Amino acid sequence: MNKIILIGNGDVGSSYSFSLVTQGLGYEVGIIDIDEKKVAGDVQDLQHGLAYIGPKSVYQATYKDCSNADIVVITAGSAQNPGETRLDLIKKNTLILKEIVYQVSKSGFNGIFLIATNPVDVLTHYVKKITGFPSNKVVGSGTSLDTARLRNALGDKLEVDPRDVQVYVLGEHGDTQFPVWSHANIGGLHLHEWIKIHPNLSIDDLDVIAADVKNAAYDIIDAKGSTHYGIAVSLARITRAILYDENAVLPVSVHLSGEYGFQEVCIGSTAVVNRGGVKEIIEFPLNNNEMTLMRHSINTIKEMQTEIIEHE
Ligand code: NAD
Repeated sequence: MNKIILIGNGDVGSSYSFSLVTQGLGYEVGIIDIDEKKVAGDVQDLQHGLAYIGPKSVYQATYKDCSNADIVVITAGSAQNPGETRLDLIKKNTLILKEIVYQVSKSGFNGIFLIATNPVDVLTHYVKKITGFPSNKVVGSGTSLDTARLRNALGDKLEVDPRDVQVYVLGEHGDTQFPVWSHANIGGLHLHEWIKIHPNLSIDDLDVIAADVKNAAYDIIDAKGSTHYGIAVSLARITRAILYDENAVLPVSVHLSGEYGFQEVCIGSTAVVNRGGVKEIIEFPLNNNEMTLMRHSINTIKEMQTEIIEHE
């Protein structure tokens, strides 16, 4: 029986559980949040859709329910409030995750942690560190959402199904992320070859698209307060890869052990994901410019880690 426990039933969490139900993922979906009243309401609401989808056990969970879960997904925590510094947010969410992970560990949980709370790369590393879990069993959503945004934007521009746009955003899920244009292809045709024969796309357009992708979260938050559908579907995609043992290649936050010349840091990188979590990190042979961006991104995350985690 595939069992998922979701911790954090806010905008992201509730959109994720809705994705699980509508996509038929996981037989058991247990939900935990300090706002127990909202969980009770959402559980009922989700159950009301099952008659048109298929049987599934959706319920209000406790930490004891984590003991035999396949995946614990953490979306609890705050987003950055006006006037709050990035550092304030990291401190706040680190404390929230510390308490949650303590409770999950106490249950005897031995499955895969999937983390979405921001700053996701720092917190994925933090969860790995405090649980002592092997790196394959702690996965962050990483640049999965940013990659989906990029594929969608490029697909729109090229009038091509975004699933046939093969390009990844790597690095921090944040301002130092970057697209790997050097390995981008459209249905197998290298992006640079595509540009040669399709005059409606230029190198300048690529820069604009990459900047829009990087700033998408700011625009959406400005418009409606949070981003949650895109990340919910990205989390569901990672969940599917784990539960169905897919060996899917996904851009997730993974713990580096020498890849790109770094270790002891989690960052968005392509990896093969299956029932065991991260089977293998795929290290792209980046060009010089991309390698500089990768180093900068890793160093930015490492600085955040040092500020909070190493000195707590
Ligand atoms: P939200 O405020 O709507 O929801 C957060 C939920 O966490 C609330 O329901 C709150 O009650 C719960 N919570 C807080 N402390 C808790 C605790 N100790 N135990 C259990 N539950 C607790 O926020 P949101 O919009 O759902 O965002 C959640 C997180 O996801 C944020 O950190 C946000 O930045 C992040 N996020 C990540 C990505 C990504 O790509 N990784 C994308 C969007 C949002």
